[in-house]
Amino acid sequence: MKEKKKIVILGGSYGGVNAAKVLYKKLKNQKEIEITLIDKNPYHTLMTELHEVAGGRAEPESVLVSHEKIFGGMDIRLVIDHIQTVDFNGQKLISETAEYPYDYLVIGAGAEPDYFDIPGAREHTLPLWSFENALKIREHIEFMFRKAAKEANPAKRKKLLTFVIVGGGFTGVEMAGELLEWKNSLCVKNGISPKDVRVIVVEALDAILSILPQKLQKKAATYFTKKGGEILTKSPITGITPEHVTVKDGNTIETKTVIWTCGVQGCEFGANLSLKKGKCVFRKYPENLSMDANGKKEQCSECGKYINGKLGRLEVNEFMEAPEKKNVYIVGDMAWFEEKGKPIPQIVETALQTSETAAHNIIADLQGRQKKAFKSDYHGLMVSVGGRYAVAHVMNMSLTGFFAMAMKHLINLHYLIGVAGINACWDYIKHHFLDIRDNRSIIGGHASAKVRIYWVAALRLFLGVMWLVEGSTKVIDGWLDPSKIYIVNMAAISNGTTDAQMGATEMTEGQSLTQEELDAMASTTPAGETWAAPAADAVSTATAATAPQAEKPLLDKPLGLYVWFQENVMVKAPFVFQATVVIAEILIGLALLGGLFTSIAAAGSIGLCLMFIVSAMASKEIFWYMISAIAVIGGGGRGFGLDYWVMPWLQKWWNRTKIAKKTYLYLDEPRK
Ligand SMILES: Cc1cc2nc3c(=O)[nH]c(=O)nc-3n(C[C@H](O)[C@H](O)[C@H](O)COP(=O)(O)OP(=O)(O)OC[C@H]3O[C@@H](n4cnc5c(N)ncnc54)[C@H](O)[C@@H]3O)c2cc1C
Repeated sequence: MKEKKKIVILGGSYGGVNAAKVLYKKLKNQKEIEITLIDKNPYHTLMTELHEVAGGRAEPESVLVSHEKIFGGMDIRLVIDHIQTVDFNGQKLISETAEYPYDYLVIGAGAEPDYFDIPGAREHTLPLWSFENALKIREHIEFMFRKAAKEANPAKRKKLLTFVIVGGGFTGVEMAGELLEWKNSLCVKNGISPKDVRVIVVEALDAILSILPQKLQKKAATYFTKKGGEILTKSPITGITPEHVTVKDGNTIETKTVIWTCGVQGCEFGANLSLKKGKCVFRKYPENLSMDANGKKEQCSECGKYINGKLGRLEVNEFMEAPEKKNVYIVGDMAWFEEKGKPIPQIVETALQTSETAAHNIIADLQGRQKKAFKSDYHGLMVSVGGRYAVAHVMNMSLTGFFAMAMKHLINLHYLIGVAGINACWDYIKHHFLDIRDNRSIIGGHASAKVRIYWVAALRLFLGVMWLVEGSTKVIDGWLDPSKIYIVNMAAISNGTTDAQMGATEMTEGQSLTQEELDAMASTTPAGETWAAPAADAVSTATAATAPQAEKPLLDKPLGLYVWFQENVMVKAPFVFQATVVIAEILIGLALLGGLFTSIAAAGSIGLCLMFIVSAMASKEIFWYMISAIAVIGGGGRGFGLDYWVMPWLQKWWNRTKIAKKTYLYLDEPRK
């Protein structure tokens, strides 16, 4: 058998995931090609939201999208392994335990923070560059508050409650904004006055967010300082110890927490590969640059400055290929490529666009077509300052506050729908709105207030009883007798009358309607009142006078669409429709009583109510049914109901089906 061509993607984040998706979409029918994605983690970390986890706004799992969820429905081999190096001559990736041969290789292993050789920066700061970093910062902050709550020495207490964020770029400002917001609830929890807490952003340049227009820089700075934050500009850090930070002017800030967010460079893994490094522009190393742990230091062949050989980005040509190696592509933060004399920025859009180019060119190579050159198309940046405020510069538009934050959410949702469909979007909405704590969203806590399940269970039982009574009454009144048709006005239809109302068969004949039948009809729609009145309108005053007292229906006559349906569809099998209504009412009642498939029963309940409204059978009391159904639709049977046992089992079964995997319509995580 012919060996399959192997395309291996290293790195399952923005760049790697996108490359895999583009390649799969175009090559899925070519069985002689195998696509493998290797990452040291089983998930794609949403790096752009790490600050939300670090700053206690979102739960840790909110920034992880499992590769199984993303690729479950695709024929892509997923490997969890930490790759140590690549043997380019032998065309294979090497880990501690395995080797992975390739014909084409895409490397998107990301970046690392740059400490600029500042003494103590690497040792005594908390970087925000991975999921683990975010968790560590979160735990550290909580620990500082707990410790400060017990600290009697004012100087020590002050130090514990001083938080320094080094770097006023988007990561630093976002981190500081979250912390500023989070401190309020941490203070309440620990009995600390918010006035005792300092959150300081230290920036070397003369403004924060230098990547944004000046107007937005100022807006963000004003919001931040108004909320109690402090900003030190023109303040390069010169040294960091476990007890304090030293600024260039000689001032020190006593602190136990320094979060490092400035500086980004290629990752150590990439720098150790035998590939050409990018230039070292913007970096001036001192003459006496010491050797790093691996004893490496390199001089840039083009500009003559030194770069730390371990930490450079990797040069690519316009096709995103490593120039000296065949079939090797570099994407995302690792790639060094200059456009108009400037290196491409290390942001998500770069990762997506470089990986698109790389995937396109692999396919072109396989098909003997011409490769295409990379051309960036950036849309802008959004920076949040906590959960309720943001500034954004998108497509040359400047936005602030609610609109900027809404834009950030929309763009995140747009990204997620492409990555893992509606399921990932639902998770995002849950984490950012439905489960948000301390009102930390643009709509405050309005969507996150919860009702205890026992109240919903009581409402569910009430609604179940009501439907059961409705259905049973109809049975008693003969709705399951094929000779009695209440649901369609057969006589009116056969006479060509357009006002064909439910239950009016006998009524239009006036004289054939007995009091018993009127009673039956009056009692057979939800709330029992809505039936006779519209029907009575259609018949003689004398007949109407005999009808039972009933409430006025919401509509005077059925909607046109309903009349059309009645005249053209229901009329062909009126008994089937009549029996269906009765059986549906009984089944909905039983399901709600048992708490089984509650969501479906509640949806059916709403459907029936809508039908009764458009057919002009329902009075305002129908709203009780509808509102109760809406209240239980979210899973009123998951407590004190059979759904408690049935749903987890069903979820497991459904998540394993091909259709769930292909459409991303998983319920929760695919493994659950
Ligand atoms: C806190 C923070 C906030 C940010 N905010 C924004 C923002 O608002 N907007 C924006 O555009 N950009 C933002 N960025 C930058 C953006 O996240 C990066 O540009 C983007 O993540 C780059 O994607 P990538 O695929 O190149 O690399 P990464 O996202 O870094 O992914 C690299 C992947 O490779 C895997 N990997 C690495 N080495 C190995 C190995 N040896 N073996 C196996 N697997 C390996 C990793 O596990 C990871 O999954 C932010 C970054 C951070 C850290």
